[in-house]
Amino acid sequence: MKTKLHILYGGKSAEHQVSLQTALAVTKALDMDKYEVYPLYITDTGEWRRGGLLNGPAESVHQLKLEDGGETIAPLALSSGEDVAEASPVIFPLLHGPNGEDGTVQGMLELLNLPYVGNGVLASSAGMDKVIMKNLFAQAGLPQVGYVHFLRSEWEKAAEATYVKVEEDLGYPCFVKPANLGSSVGISKAKNREELANSFREAFEYDRKIIVEQGLDGAREIEIGVLGNDEPECSVVGEIAPKTEFYDYKAKYEDGDTAMIIPAEIDGETYAKVKEMAITAFKSIDGAGLVRADFFLTKEGELYINEVNTMPGFTPYSMFPLLWQHTDVSYPELIEKLVGYAKERHEEKQ
Ligand code: ADP
Ligand code: MG
Ligand code: MG
Repeated sequence: MKTKLHILYGGKSAEHQVSLQTALAVTKALDMDKYEVYPLYITDTGEWRRGGLLNGPAESVHQLKLEDGGETIAPLALSSGEDVAEASPVIFPLLHGPNGEDGTVQGMLELLNLPYVGNGVLASSAGMDKVIMKNLFAQAGLPQVGYVHFLRSEWEKAAEATYVKVEEDLGYPCFVKPANLGSSVGISKAKNREELANSFREAFEYDRKIIVEQGLDGAREIEIGVLGNDEPECSVVGEIAPKTEFYDYKAKYEDGDTAMIIPAEIDGETYAKVKEMAITAFKSIDGAGLVRADFFLTKEGELYINEVNTMPGFTPYSMFPLLWQHTDVSYPELIEKLVGYAKERHEEKQ
């Protein structure tokens, strides 16, 4: 029997377009002899639209927007309807950022008792909140740069005191980030008090909580893929080399000028350490399905974990799928494995 698969994409986030591209690529990679694929599109205003069974790979992003055909549904009506009545579909969320990657959609899917690809509620929300994530990493003994965090209300009451704390605890340069975002949105580097004040203003536009980290100058950025449930496996190790001062939103989505080096040219000892730390990080947030773990490697050879992404970029040209391709797991195989892990986890819960 074919597996019913609902690909869930779009969403009210900065990564709406990226998500559409991903969905297009996923329909092209899926073996339609094995899967019955249904599109589920969240518009950029947050409306949920369900399309009919795809007869073949989607031909364009336009088609995936379901403007000609498709019905508007209440998200909680997801588990009703003809296609769902006979057999429960696996949901494949191809969403990034808040309301997609942060545990909210995952919580809804839990309530509906539907199997879904990727991380559960806890791992997703812990991975989205950089403060909570770093606290969990610290508890797991993972090395990372120093950090402090502030609420908007604290800053509004005593801005000077928050700046002094940063200067005393971390010094310059430092990185200021909204706690709950991705894609480098709202992140800036501060080298002095004036820049710090600007960075706070910027980051607080996006979140009521921010994190400030000790900034590393000239560190290399190392990334690795982790795949699985209770016994996760690692991909080869890669490196990203942005041409800009840091890997900002523009470098990620607009320039295309960032080099991806797979496998990364690092010594064997560091290589092994990256793998070990990635597994520890995955387990520290109670990960499931997949994460991409990101590290800094300093000029002195010190390795620090930066973050895990619970729904990393997933176009065929994104780091995560490329890392797996270099590990002899093709894009279609990767999708198949993820659907398998989703089913396994769902069965375990029943
Ligand atoms: P996001 O979740 O948005 O990707 P990151 O924490 O990965 O946020 O930060 C985005 C980019 O900013 C990193 O890839 C890196 O280039 C730079 N960066 C972030 N934190 C630091 C730091 N502490 N030191 C040096 N560079 C940093
Ligand atoms: Mg991130
Ligand atoms: Mg990042």
